[in-house]
Amino acid sequence: MRLQDKVAIITGGASGIGKAATERFLEEGARVVIADYNQEQGELLTGELTDHQDRVAFCQTDVSKEAQAKAAVAFTLEKFGRLDILVNNAGITLDAMFAKMSEDQFDQVMDINVKGVFHMTHAALPHLIEQGFGKIINTSSVSGVYGNVGQTNYAASKAAVIGMTKSWAKELGRKGIQVNAVAPGFTATPMVAKMPEKIIDQMTSVVALQRLAEPRDIANAYLFLASNEADYVHGHVLHVDGGIMM
Ligand code: NAD
Repeated sequence: MRLQDKVAIITGGASGIGKAATERFLEEGARVVIADYNQEQGELLTGELTDHQDRVAFCQTDVSKEAQAKAAVAFTLEKFGRLDILVNNAGITLDAMFAKMSEDQFDQVMDINVKGVFHMTHAALPHLIEQGFGKIINTSSVSGVYGNVGQTNYAASKAAVIGMTKSWAKELGRKGIQVNAVAPGFTATPMVAKMPEKIIDQMTSVVALQRLAEPRDIANAYLFLASNEADYVHGHVLHVDGGIMM
């Protein structure tokens, strides 16, 4: 029970990596608020988690909207009385070759992947500072580290997540708040399932372990960073990518 009595918000917690994290955190004793804008999926998942009904709640949230981010934090404090861990996992892709990428495609990805992380962390911060404790885990991507064809917007957003993680680690460490990021490699989630098979084969071919990550592989990294085992890990970007050679 590595997260016994802890309260976590997992953004994008209704699908893919976020869903696996929700399940993993619950297995380890946490109380979890799933902050996701997909109401149907969020309510379906909370309904399925019958073993943990009293420790999981759904809060429909669009992280790109400041007021909704604040409402998700307020909901959590009201529901469970505290907040210890914020996992900024929600993210989208809108891929296009750069020559054809519209400003709108760029802005949409930035709004969710960058400003969503900004808004959620801003909303949680007063509470975390007041209690002098908290763990923030941001989700970057190998694309944000290496760049990727067709992902100018996404790679820029995930590089920004690394910049925010390192800046917040410097600002907030002295206040008892730990900030780290996970950079997942290609992971078998609905985000990747929508890609053509040829692209998925290409993605697998650059992975030393020769397989895509399972959502649980990434969720286990979130769990480590959220647990006391990572109490001295700070400002770190943990690559969980099977050994990618891009
Ligand atoms: P996914 O599409 O399966 O799940 C994303 C979840 O985020 C969905 O439930 C969706 O409803 C939610 N979401 C999207 N926009 C939102 C918003 N504005 N507000 C709240 N919730 C929102 O994706 P995934 O593959 O599980 O990705 C999770 C995270 O991991 C993302 O940040 C993604 O960029 C990152 N990532 C994924 C991969 C991969 O290969 N799948 C690789 C590297 C990084």
